[in-house]
Amino acid sequence: MQRLDVGSIVNAISDRDVRGILEQEGLRQERTISMLASENMLPLDGLLAQASPIANKTVEGFPGHRYHAGAAWVDALERLCIDRGKELFAAGYANVQPHSGSQANQVVFNALLDPGDRLLSMRLSDGGHLSHGAAINQSGKLYDVSSYGVDRETGLIDYDEFQRIARERRPKLIVAGGSAYPRIIDFKAMAAIAAETGALLLVDMAHFAGQVAAGRYPNPVPLADVVSTTTYKSLRGPRGGMILSRSKRVGRLVDRSLFPGFQGTPAMHQVAAKAICLGEARQPAFGDYIERALRLAAICCSRLQADGFRLLTGGTDTTMVMVDLSREHFTGRAAAEALERCGIIANQNAIPGDFRPPFEGSGLRLSTTAMAARGFDAATAAPVFDVVCGVLDSLRRDRPIDVADALRRIARLCDEHPAYAVNRQLEVA
Ligand SMILES: *Cc1c(COP(=O)(O)O)cnc(C)c1O
Repeated sequence: MQRLDVGSIVNAISDRDVRGILEQEGLRQERTISMLASENMLPLDGLLAQASPIANKTVEGFPGHRYHAGAAWVDALERLCIDRGKELFAAGYANVQPHSGSQANQVVFNALLDPGDRLLSMRLSDGGHLSHGAAINQSGKLYDVSSYGVDRETGLIDYDEFQRIARERRPKLIVAGGSAYPRIIDFKAMAAIAAETGALLLVDMAHFAGQVAAGRYPNPVPLADVVSTTTYKSLRGPRGGMILSRSKRVGRLVDRSLFPGFQGTPAMHQVAAKAICLGEARQPAFGDYIERALRLAAICCSRLQADGFRLLTGGTDTTMVMVDLSREHFTGRAAAEALERCGIIANQNAIPGDFRPPFEGSGLRLSTTAMAARGFDAATAAPVFDVVCGVLDSLRRDRPIDVADALRRIARLCDEHPAYAVNRQLEVA
């Protein structure tokens, strides 16, 4: 029996240049706290699966219909992954091959739309996503895009405006979901308006898929024609995407759109890690992680509001917290840079009606999923939020930030919450 620890995965790499960088990045992750909504801490099994030789296998097509020989085991793996995805989200169809969330959306558009068809999606500045038809994205060049947004006062989706635009524009496809909207979306209302106006409904659940899996966000699968997601955000799986539908008919169109329409060979090592992730998401420990992430997000909101910071929508229903800095004299980017110097990783974001350019941003997007994945709870997260508020308050008052003190506090908290228990012993037969 051989024994292996996490460190030795990287230690086993003989290319010293690459190994050195991988070691430094591993250390960076251990020594900082990620509050990025678009990344998470993949459990160890998912990391290990991606270092398996199944990464070598080239196939095209789907289980049972492959172009290349030698596909027995990748067929078994992909079938397992599909079954787990269908079961977890109560779907009739799953495609686990998309290399990313953006590609999952392109595949869906390509399946259901022709170039020039009308698409209605959430405005990028109001919390939408580039891949939903932004002018600078390929989707914006291929389709005739209109957008809906949020009410400027409440920050909530303006369903009346949405209905008006849907009736006027008669889009072929409506997209719900975004990357910076921290509230529960009324899928029923959107599905009803889609049905009334003869549109298909795509829900992109990239950010809240983990919450859906844990039963803490309405499952869009029964209401939407098709659902896309990433697997590496709140779902806590590997990089990549997934497409689900209640309808096998839509599924056949999506399959053909993905291959031969869009992608070539799937990355089977990622499919292995997706299967593990979808298995883990059924476990009680995953529910605990989501509950903790939600609790931490609520605490983070209260803490920021107590210090007089404004939040988009006034709070959150999710694990995401959107800080509105439009009335502050510093930008979201300045906040993210100051936080990074103190060991906390976050990103700036545009907010509805933002007068600052997107790269500066009047929003700061925070998330508690990676913290929850590392085992932070209400008591141990409070000092992290103290640092966040301290940094923002110093920027607001033009006071110097005590970076050394913040780094010391964050380093201690990181030590107490290792991302990967470095000495976890794995038994290798
Ligand atoms: C993150 C995200 C994506 C894009 O995922 P990539 O893997 O970066 O392509 C797509 N849609 C939404 C809503 C997202 O938040």
